[in-house]
Amino acid sequence: MDHIEELARALAKLPGIGPRQGKRFVYYLLAAPGAERLKLAELITALGREVRQCPECLRFFTGRALVCNYCSDSRRDDSQLMLVEKDQDLAALERAGTYKGHYFVLGGVLTLSGKGAIREKELVRALEKKVAKGLTEVVLALSATSEGEHTADHIRTILLPYRDRIKISTLGRGLATGSELEYSDAETLRAALTNRKEA
Ligand SMILES: [Zn+2]
Repeated sequence: MDHIEELARALAKLPGIGPRQGKRFVYYLLAAPGAERLKLAELITALGREVRQCPECLRFFTGRALVCNYCSDSRRDDSQLMLVEKDQDLAALERAGTYKGHYFVLGGVLTLSGKGAIREKELVRALEKKVAKGLTEVVLALSATSEGEHTADHIRTILLPYRDRIKISTLGRGLATGSELEYSDAETLRAALTNRKEA
């Protein structure tokens, strides 16, 4: 197969990138200095080598530690567990800087048409572990979209066996309807965290 076509197709698999943009990237790279292409190739290769997934919160982190720096931080509050859709949401909430509990990355949302998936088995396992360590609150930090609501409903059923000792809260809706956490500014996220309500 033609090398330009092959790379364009590989790039077109990236989220938000179509075949035409894939081609644009290839021609950009052809015009770029060799060092830039090499650097990009090295960074992609290093992803598999330098980045690992935390077995507790399931976020990706750089380093050789067994668990990520949030999960291993004894100053963080064991009584709170925040559920987020993806790593980028977690990063946005950390930047807001007010939350000091633990996290779990769901890895997706459930759609109304029955598509999509979350890491349900891993979540149940994490919950059992956290309850033993004194968990009292689960914060649902999902996007204010219909998928987010639908996912939250399903998680409430997963949490049913723990309802006598765990309260469930959701982020206060300073967040605009349909807005994604990832793109919310720190100020908005701080307000949403402070105004979280039991649900
Ligand atoms: Zn972790």
